[in-house]
Amino acid sequence: MKALTFHGKHHIQYESIRDPEILQPTDVIVKVKVCAICGSDLHAYHESEKGLDHGTAMGHEFSGEIVALGKEVKTLRIGDLVMSPFTTSCGNCFYCNMGLTCRCVQSQLFGWRENNYGLHGGQAEFVRVPLADSSLMKLPEGVSLEEGLLLGDVLSTGFFCAKQAEIKPKNTYVVIGCGPVGLLAILGAIEYGAEKIFAIDTVPERLTMAQKFGAMVINASHQNAIGIIKEETDGRGADAVMEAVGNATTNRLAYDLIRPGGIISAVGVCTDTHFPFSPTDAYNKNLTYKVGRCPARFMMEQLVPMVQQKKYNVTSIISHRIKLSEGVYGYDIFSNKKDDCLKVVMEL
Ligand code: NAD
Ligand code: ZN
Repeated sequence: MKALTFHGKHHIQYESIRDPEILQPTDVIVKVKVCAICGSDLHAYHESEKGLDHGTAMGHEFSGEIVALGKEVKTLRIGDLVMSPFTTSCGNCFYCNMGLTCRCVQSQLFGWRENNYGLHGGQAEFVRVPLADSSLMKLPEGVSLEEGLLLGDVLSTGFFCAKQAEIKPKNTYVVIGCGPVGLLAILGAIEYGAEKIFAIDTVPERLTMAQKFGAMVINASHQNAIGIIKEETDGRGADAVMEAVGNATTNRLAYDLIRPGGIISAVGVCTDTHFPFSPTDAYNKNLTYKVGRCPARFMMEQLVPMVQQKKYNVTSIISHRIKLSEGVYGYDIFSNKKDDCLKVVMEL
């Protein structure tokens, strides 16, 4: 089959690799119909996250059709259209039962293989899905393949980020980063009741989108975000900051923007070894810092009714629809924000 594979820094190849096979009786094989490039794929692309085997099929955002079933798969059939969270989960362990499916004891991340162990990703014609009954969801009625793909990661992650911010109507909120995750965190914050949201980025087109989604925007390349938020809040700072970038600068900014007793909800994948604020800094603000991977399998189920109602135009974040064979170009435009690229979906 054809796949987009990792071969080191800024080197993605469209090439033939072996077709996946059923390895465990609880596996299925999905024929991918749509897949996407995520900000998380860029950490591997820029090699800020080390260890990914060369030759690994990239990607963890996909939906498609089941074409092969392991013997113990109970709820899925050949021909079913399915959406997938970006990690697998057993549906049965301590963490799955508490809704933290991303920390399932058997969890594996699509598109991550280290020392020949792990899963190939969904930027490919076919993908093997372990623990299929509990990992996948049949595409619900009224949910498109593209909406399913967004539910499997960035939509769930944006809403998870907002949920962790414990939104209350009258408060002041800040979202740092207006990529797909940050933009969907704005919608999440609105859904959970926020009335005043500021969004920070440096890319004008992305800020325009944030404004369309209902945020007041701050262009960090020439505006003083800290000054603006302090002025809005009688000098206190924001009640919660949603961090959707994942580096030291933006985590420090989140700290500088938050009021005493506030919450930082950080979903950006930060590969630094230290916090950009000290334990004393945290103490001095009575800070709550929530961080980590989104339990997408849990969240997507919660968000299905909202997507079915078409309450928000979530697919409006998709700026480019290209073919899988054009994926190398897709990485270039998404990573370098060329041609107003905001989200690349590849159709097969
Ligand atoms: P993206 O790269 O498209 O978005 C990042 C945005 O941050 C860009 O718009 C960029 O212009 C902006 N930015 C960069 N530096 C900035 C700065 N100093 N100040 C203000 N804005 C700045 O990626 P995305 O797909 O939206 O993902 C965002 C982050 O979320 C990534 O780190 C990704 O790995 C992470 N993520 C986490 C989870 C999770 O489960 N926690 C899931 C999906 C994605
Ligand atoms: Zn992702």
